[in-house]
Amino acid sequence: MPINKPIDMLLAIDVGGTKIAAAWVSKGQIIERRQQPMATDPAGFLEAINQLVLGWPAPERVAVAATGYIDGGKVYSVNQHIIEFWDGFPLGRHLNTRFACPVVLMNDGQAAAWGEYLIRKTSTSSIAPESLLFITLSTGVGGGLVLHQQLRIGRQGLAGHVGHTTISRGPVDGDVQCGCGRCDCLEKVASGTALARQASAVFGRRIDSKELFTMAQTNPEAEAIIDNAAMAVAEAISNFQMMLDVDEVVIGGSVGLADGMLQRIRQALAQAPSLAQVPVTAALLGADAGLAGIMQWSQD
Ligand code: ADP
Ligand code: ZN
Repeated sequence: MPINKPIDMLLAIDVGGTKIAAAWVSKGQIIERRQQPMATDPAGFLEAINQLVLGWPAPERVAVAATGYIDGGKVYSVNQHIIEFWDGFPLGRHLNTRFACPVVLMNDGQAAAWGEYLIRKTSTSSIAPESLLFITLSTGVGGGLVLHQQLRIGRQGLAGHVGHTTISRGPVDGDVQCGCGRCDCLEKVASGTALARQASAVFGRRIDSKELFTMAQTNPEAEAIIDNAAMAVAEAISNFQMMLDVDEVVIGGSVGLADGMLQRIRQALAQAPSLAQVPVTAALLGADAGLAGIMQWSQD
């Protein structure tokens, strides 16, 4: 539940599969933002947190948006291949011990959904949606859901987790077994990890998602991998639209915000029957949607 108390010194943290972002927030204003690569083990993670807060004042509260789901202050990866030590890692206890203050934890896709909803609500230039689905195409594929102006957390803290819903369009390398235990998940086709895996299989050398987007400007095979991913995202959006009928779908994450990705998703969605279509927009808060969302949620 949100806590009703203004905070002079808030430490907001967004933990993804690739990076950890942190912001020192005073009275709702970001004073400074920093970033570190995500670690591969608990000791490295706690060291990265120490590096991020170097020289910052002691927080009164720590607010964390973390990939995976949270249960009793512990975090668990939905896809165990994304962060292997996220298998019940006591994130809440570690941060509470480190900073000696209350810690608020939330899934990163849900935090970003809340941030994107609030920015639309307060912006004078757009019509605020009542209901919104946020999809992050990043190391994995995550998401969050705002229904009737309320963030849906869900029984397990997983509401809106689009990445592990299944789609009929498979990855070009045929590797459909997901680390969540299911097959044919959207994450196996359209995450940064999946794009890199497919590109590496097609071209026979290690290629990351960023390089693939550069290659796609001139190479039709590279472009086909991205187009296939965009069509998979559009298929998932149509599925959600038929079920939830939201006002807007917002796309974030480094892959979602990469050059041309949003346009490709829109083009693919335009092929669907009109009832299965919905306006698709880019995250107004860019890479900081999760940070902004958790910052607001922990203070509202
Ligand atoms: P996180 O998953 O930690 O929240 P990001 O949203 O930055 O972080 O997503 C990281 C993924 O995005 C990685 O797979 C990375 O290779 C990919 N990526 C980063 N920058 C780009 C880019 N400019 N174009 C395409 N893919 C990118
Ligand atoms: Zn899955």
